[in-house]
Amino acid sequence: GGEIVWLHMHIVFVLDIRGESIGDVFVMLTDCTREMTEKMNNLEFARTDYLTHIWNRRYTEELIEEKASRQERGIFMLFDVDKFKSVNDSYGHITGDDLLVKISANVSEKLSSGDVFGRLGGDEFVIWLERSDNEEADKERVLDIFKATKFHYCEKDIEMDIHCSAGVIFFKDKPMTFDKLYAKADEAMYEAKRSGRDTIIMG
Ligand code: GH3
Ligand code: MG
Repeated sequence: GGEIVWLHMHIVFVLDIRGESIGDVFVMLTDCTREMTEKMNNLEFARTDYLTHIWNRRYTEELIEEKASRQERGIFMLFDVDKFKSVNDSYGHITGDDLLVKISANVSEKLSSGDVFGRLGGDEFVIWLERSDNEEADKERVLDIFKATKFHYCEKDIEMDIHCSAGVIFFKDKPMTFDKLYAKADEAMYEAKRSGRDTIIMG
């Protein structure tokens, strides 16, 4: 919880009269904490989803694109809330929004710093997970995260069971792009929706 101080450093080398060697060196430090803090806040703001405070679509894509193109393996998980429209229709947008916030918080608790979690828009979310050498353990992890998307919503006089459908792509041996991963995961998720929802399909 310490405070960060940003300093701008100027170094001036003064050559001697014949220009052959350095005579004097001056160092000047200026405090630019205010500008830098503002810059960092703006950057954070531009990358964050206003509602859920997880990463927004643009930054999520950027982060995953970078990982997927550089690494030869990873896990891409797409999920979407089941029948979310009827939540909005029955209880209003504010309850719908609150539900999205709660799902994001539940899932965030299951993730660690190397993972990427973002909202692509509406009720659609994506997670990037690092792959380990243990495929079974990775699958367990994915299932555990999927469990966190499922919960009993209970606020004031509103009660309902919420669940999602997910499509997961495990890839290895070759780099990928966000678009390719998204297309494959979307197919798997569509399959999950078609088979009755509240389902996860791992491709
Ligand atoms: P499915 O099981 O097929 O996913 O059915 P669905 O009703 O969830 O359908 P879909 O995912 O296509 O609908 C998403 C709905 O989310 C449509 C839109 O009204 C609503 N929505 C999009 N953005 C927001 C938002 O920020 N807040 C709220 N409350 N609703 C949103
Ligand atoms: Mg939906």
